[in-house]
Amino acid sequence: MEIKSDIEIAQATKMDHVTEIAKKVSIDPKYIEQYGNYKAKIDLNIWNDLKDKPNGKLVLVTAITPTPAGEGKTTTTVGLGDGLRYIGKKSVVALREPSLGPVFGVKGGAAGGGYAQVVPMEDINLHFTGDMHAIGAANNLLAAMLDNHIWQGNALNIDPRRITWRRCVDMNDRQLRNIADGLGGRTNGFPREDGYDITVASEIMAVLCLSSDITDLKARLARIIVGYTYDEKPVTCGDLKAQGAMAALLKDALKPNLVQTLEHTPAFIHGGPFANIAHGCNSVTATKLALKLGDYCVTEAGFGADLGAEKFLDIKCRMAGLKPSAVVIVATVRALKMHGGVPKTELNTENLEALEKGLPNLLQHVENITKVFKLPAVVAINAFPFDTKAELDLVEKRCNELGVNVALSEVWAKGGAGGEALAKEVVRLCESGENNFEFSYDLNLPIKEKLEAISKKIYHADSVELVANAVKQCKQLEDLGFGNVPICMAKTQYSFSDDPAKLGAPKNFKVTVRNLKISAGAGFIVALTGDVMTMPGLPKVPSAEKIDVDASGKISGLF
Ligand code: ADP
Ligand code: MG
Repeated sequence: MEIKSDIEIAQATKMDHVTEIAKKVSIDPKYIEQYGNYKAKIDLNIWNDLKDKPNGKLVLVTAITPTPAGEGKTTTTVGLGDGLRYIGKKSVVALREPSLGPVFGVKGGAAGGGYAQVVPMEDINLHFTGDMHAIGAANNLLAAMLDNHIWQGNALNIDPRRITWRRCVDMNDRQLRNIADGLGGRTNGFPREDGYDITVASEIMAVLCLSSDITDLKARLARIIVGYTYDEKPVTCGDLKAQGAMAALLKDALKPNLVQTLEHTPAFIHGGPFANIAHGCNSVTATKLALKLGDYCVTEAGFGADLGAEKFLDIKCRMAGLKPSAVVIVATVRALKMHGGVPKTELNTENLEALEKGLPNLLQHVENITKVFKLPAVVAINAFPFDTKAELDLVEKRCNELGVNVALSEVWAKGGAGGEALAKEVVRLCESGENNFEFSYDLNLPIKEKLEAISKKIYHADSVELVANAVKQCKQLEDLGFGNVPICMAKTQYSFSDDPAKLGAPKNFKVTVRNLKISAGAGFIVALTGDVMTMPGLPKVPSAEKIDVDASGKISGLF
């Protein structure tokens, strides 16, 4: 069987004009701001027309602990959207915007795969509508104003050694992780240690994703803490009077982007924080819009359910007042075999024994969703070309034996038609009405107990240890009045634990918290565990080496 690449499939598809896509969900043309023929931003004033409309059902797509290649959450989200349309339901997809880091690194794009993709995939993966650049510009404006303030006399008494605001760029660039800047003598700034994060890890990204409108955006930006004074008082973006100009830079980025799937299902792609170092889900505005416009809004949260889904539920749903009706947990035979001990180079060979050994990883994610968050869930087995029938059958059989809802998903190979079984199961779960959604922790618990709740209930750790510095930060944050905000865990995506080498469903481990930082604008505390990096690097052979564009402007090598 000849397998076509994602980009070949995407480029062979005839897209509908974006105004046709908007018509499918009855968007009044006056709210459509076109970016060419196939992309549009939606004016937030549409909210005035929609606010009294009932919401559709919210369906979250998450996954087991992934391999570095990804297990197909975006693919499943898109395919489920098309699958729901295939069985006659009005669905809308809501996804994150891809970051250039993974596009040029190991993983490749984030627009789905096979016959379950969003298009135009080249645009979506490269610059799209410029949101990522706007976020970077706003972030770096604040950095420039902060350093300039100090250079111009430092009226706010900011301690340059206690600056917490970092610069950002949307690229995997380890060279910029830690830098010295302001070198070159008096007229060239003041020398200090500094560093860059990838844009999708910046607080501006989180703020954009959680803001409901421009007023809320400005208020959140003003609250951002950029560092501390010599007497340890927080200094905010508002103190530097930067929020107005930053909001001006972000005015269009705040509007959700409308595109389509290969089968012309409307898809909002908006906001894109990573789930290992940030909160991992698309914007609240896009999700809410999709819920008003469709009967089913299918959305994705990044990496495994311990990261993306936990943050989607404990942070985004809590802040935005959302309640999912069903959760889809994507599993693949290859990831299960990896958790069963098979080396990454041999994942395409049948191995029922390893598959069986890897199942506890999946089951622990399922139990977290159904028993901790008390939400209805279904396992979607994302079928890959190398999977054998015996392997696919075994996963299904074990799920059935354990009373876990399960459906085979063939959306990658067959598009919406391959998602029929999953779509029917999702509809059944949404309509069963059984749903006692709970958060995994109470906001009023002390910070340490919230860290413990997530680590014990979701990761299944024995305990949490805070290094000395984090103990100090914990007290400082509680003294500053930030004790009752949610926690955004920064943790490796490759394990339930904070050690990427611990596969499966590890037991008898502790989680080490190295650093606690308040994102006062986003409204959560970021807890750094293990060695997780806020600026990734490129691999030995970056996928960028294969990407090209011909004389006619046609792009190749993206996947
Ligand atoms: P995630 O969102 O979980 O990170 P993606 O949906 O982006 O994963 O998929 C990761 C990669 O795997 C993509 O390149 C996609 O084309 C590929 N992929 C996903 N599902 C399948 C499948 N069933 N068969 C083959 N390749 C797949
Ligand atoms: Mg994805």
